[in-house]
Formats: sequence, structure tokens, C-alpha cells
Amino acid sequence: VTADTRIVTAPSVYLLSKQTLLQPQLDRFLADHGVAWQTDTEVAAEVVTETAGRVCYMSFAKPRPGGNAAYLDHIKEVAHGSVFEHAVWTFLITGISRTLTHELVRHRAGWAYSQLSQRYVDESVAEYVEPDIIADDPELHALWIDAVRHAHNAYVKLVDAINLKLLPRQCRRCFGEGDVRFTCSGEGCVNGTVYSRFLPPDADTTARRKTARQAARSVLPNATETKITVTANARALRHFLEQRGRVHAEPEIRKLTNVMLDILQADSPNLFGDYARRPLPDGTAELTTPYRKV
Ligand SMILES: Cc1cc2nc3c(=O)[nH]c(=O)nc-3n(C[C@H](O)[C@H](O)[C@H](O)COP(=O)(O)OP(=O)(O)OC[C@H]3O[C@@H](n4cnc5c(N)ncnc54)[C@H](O)[C@@H]3O)c2cc1C
Repeated sequence: VTADTRIVTAPSVYLLSKQTLLQPQLDRFLADHGVAWQTDTEVAAEVVTETAGRVCYMSFAKPRPGGNAAYLDHIKEVAHGSVFEHAVWTFLITGISRTLTHELVRHRAGWAYSQLSQRYVDESVAEYVEPDIIADDPELHALWIDAVRHAHNAYVKLVDAINLKLLPRQCRRCFGEGDVRFTCSGEGCVNGTVYSRFLPPDADTTARRKTARQAARSVLPNATETKITVTANARALRHFLEQRGRVHAEPEIRKLTNVMLDILQADSPNLFGDYARRPLPDGTAELTTPYRKV
């Protein structure tokens, strides 16, 4: 958009953490209760959810055939989804728009969020996320670039202008002509210095910048790129994949569900393997499952 800004069209998803199983603790529990049981998966999330489910009925002694996959499929069938809340993943997601995160944070139960602050972080080097339908068409792309550039430049100018207004000003009446700039009315003048009513008198440079950025960001577009760390459990993730991976969902967030499902299916086929992808003309895929909202 300008020399220091960049356009992004796809999210980057970093799997920051996932569970580990403390096998000796599970073995100790089994020994304490006189049962021998071993599941056939090494994925911690799958062992933990199966263990949690089996504790409900103490069904370790005579497991039905089919191993962990069959057990977790049964949980999906009977929608005993609270068991899936024991499995969690943490993703760091970048290259997504504020539009997307506004939709993402509507998902409440079972989610934790930490998002880049537009009050602390200077957006004068922001990236912008361009919707595919616009990027695909030169005429729409030109219109979009123009709008984003306009907003971006307004933000940069506003930050500087607000910063200046927030500086304490010395009054000519008290300090004489010198290098001072204005004559105050007397109101708010403390020993010849007038402070902005929008900032405490003892505010430091960081506080001043934050005050400027938080007001100037009001002109930034929804397309502004953001970064967010999310931790969510398997039940919450499944609900998210179903709602936001639907054909009716916004394409940018559907694109994100496609990437997250790739990671989750590779990591835990027994918890997420039931999802199928139906390719859509826009290049994303609709996610479907026979087990909706477990
Ligand atoms: C295609 C699409 C279009 C949308 N359009 C709009 C729109 O125009 N305007 C708008 O405001 N939103 C819109 N949304 C957002 C939608 O209304 C939900 O806020 C969002 O999808 C989160 O869904 P949820 O509440 O089921 O999920 P979560 O908050 O993750 O909750 C998961 C489940 O937990 C239970 N739950 C959570 N909190 C409560 C609670 N407080 N009380 C009782 N049960 C609870 C519910 O069973 C819920 O389904 C849209 C979503 C989609 C997918």
C-alpha cells in the first residue's frame, strides 16, 4: 500500500503447543484401581479424552473392540462432548484481518484469546488483508488499494497530530515571548504550563503515544492485519470448524478453518478425522461431519 506496508491474502497458523501425557500417572491410577488397560493411540489428547470418558463408567476392564478411534466415534455419536473439553491446542495466528478476529472472538465457551494491541503497537507499518474476491479483479483491487492507502495515511497523520496536541504547552503570559507558542486563557494553567485534559499531567511518552494511537486507530480499516494467540479445547474447536467452515461463513474465516483442520487432523485423527472437505469454487472447502455439535 505504501513503501512500508504489505498486503496479505492467506493466514499463517503456528501450532504453539499441545498436550503431553504423563503415562506414569495414568499407570498409577490404573494400578490403584486394580485394572490393566492400554489404549492403541499415542496422541496425548486422544488418550486423555478416552481416559476421562472411561472414568465416567469405570469401563477400563473390558473395552469394546475398535480401540481409541471407535471409542471416540461413540462419544461423537452419543454427543457426550464434554469429554472432548479435556484436549487443548494453542495456535498463534497471523495474517488475518480484524474482521476475522471480530468473528473469531464471538466463540466463547472453551476459548482463550490474546490479541495484538492497537493501543500499544504502532500501526503505521501495518499490513492489510485483501479479500480474494477483490484481489482477483484488477478494477476492484485498484479501488481497494486506494481506500486502504487513504485510511492508512490518515492514521499516520492523526497519530502525529494528536501526539502534538498532547504535549504540555508553556504559556506566553507566564514565560514571556521566547520559544513558547500560545497564550492560555488561565484555565488549566499550572505555573505557566497547560496540560491536555485527555492525559494525566505525569504521563510519560509511552502513555502519550498510547493515547494518540487508541484514538487514531478509529480510522483504520477492518482489513488491518492482526495477530492472535488462541487456546481452545477439542469440543470448542469442532463447533468452530462446523460453524465457520460452512458454505455460509465468511470466506476468510473459512480459509482459516481449512488450515486449522489440516493441523488438527494430522495431530489427532481420532478426534477430527470425521470431517470431510467439499471443495468450493472460491478455492476454499466446506467442512462437513456426520457428528455436528457434540
Ligand atoms: C454464518 C454466520 C453468520 C453469522 N452472522 C451473525 C450476525 O449477523 N450477527 C451476529 O451478532 N452474529 C453472527 N454470527 C455469530 C453467531 O451468532 C455466534 O455468535 C457465533 O457463531 C458463536 O457461536 P456460539 O454462540 O454457538 O459459540 P460459542 O460461544 O463458542 O458457544 C458454544 C456453545 O456453547 C453454548 N453457550 C455458549 N455461551 C452460552 C451462553 N451464554 N448461554 C447458553 N449457552 C451458551 C451454546 O450451545 C453454544 O452454541 C454468525 C455466525 C455464522 C457462522
